[in-house]
Amino acid sequence: MEDKETQNPGDVRKPRKLEGPGTAWKLNGREEDGFGKGGKTEMTGTLYLCATPIGNLGDMTPRAVETLKQADLIAAEDTRNSIKLLHFFEIHTPMTSYHEYNKVEKARQLVDRMLEGQNVALITDAGTPAISDPGEVLVRMCQENGVPVTSLPGPCACITALTLSGLSTRRFCFEGFLPSEKREKKAVLEELARETRTIVLYEAPHRLVRTLEELHECLGNRRVTLCRELTKKFETVLPTTLEEALQRYSTEEPKGEYVLVLEGKSLRQKRQEEIASWEAMSLEEHMAYYQEQGMDQKDAMKAVARDRGVGKREIYQQIHGN
Ligand code: SAM
Repeated sequence: MEDKETQNPGDVRKPRKLEGPGTAWKLNGREEDGFGKGGKTEMTGTLYLCATPIGNLGDMTPRAVETLKQADLIAAEDTRNSIKLLHFFEIHTPMTSYHEYNKVEKARQLVDRMLEGQNVALITDAGTPAISDPGEVLVRMCQENGVPVTSLPGPCACITALTLSGLSTRRFCFEGFLPSEKREKKAVLEELARETRTIVLYEAPHRLVRTLEELHECLGNRRVTLCRELTKKFETVLPTTLEEALQRYSTEEPKGEYVLVLEGKSLRQKRQEEIASWEAMSLEEHMAYYQEQGMDQKDAMKAVARDRGVGKREIYQQIHGN
């Protein structure tokens, strides 16, 4: 491949004009010229979730540009922020704000407009709408009111970080931001401590160290990949451990946007802990543990036998004393 064809993070490149998408649109199974303009009064409009770049304007898809141009209205998380994106791509569609503090009331107004036949495109500050931002409220309200919703795939910090993490991508869970409320956060951290899948978290730079400390406290030392300023000029991917990361940030101030990708608890460790907890229980307590979860005596006996690595008959004999 020639050098000029590759793109460094931070490069801003205007996408080439493409044939195809943008001229003919498949809308709810029909080929439409544009958005069914002219037929608006006969049909409900659609909500288009448009992913936008998380740092590199070259990642804007041609379909997102075309959709934003043709929509009747763009709902944006921060209109001052999005105006720059719209200018760059010469999009002149009217814009309105849709954010955390007006998400319910504004969703009602937007749904009314779509019921009248208008097409609305939703964008957020960066990335895929409805991922760690208020988009989900609008999507749900559209569904409840019979307004079609479609999603234009594109950048998402979670997936970009996961693919760069070097950790298992086969099974993962996305936690977004940890809750700020203390008790809620503790409950989530306890749940994450048992999680065997790779865990993806979002965090703001000023809370990074505190979050690393809390993760270390609750999950112990784990492998973690810190993904910073993804797709931007200073993109950094740091595969490390929670302890090493804490050491690093004791002398360095975290700057930029971060995604944390944490390794899940190993299945072997989980199994060893389970065995240790069964060993501390009497047979009766072990049986009660499963029966309290709704198992009948026969199934509980099977589960106990499996945990203890013995035959069902042995458990039966111990319980019934013969
Ligand atoms: N909807 C977005 C998405 O699809 O990823 C996420 C929105 S959430 C309000 C913002 C958080 O995403 C940031 O605090 C950061 O954790 C993460 N993020 C967004 N852009 C990023 C980037 N370029 N590099 C690293 N993290 C990023």
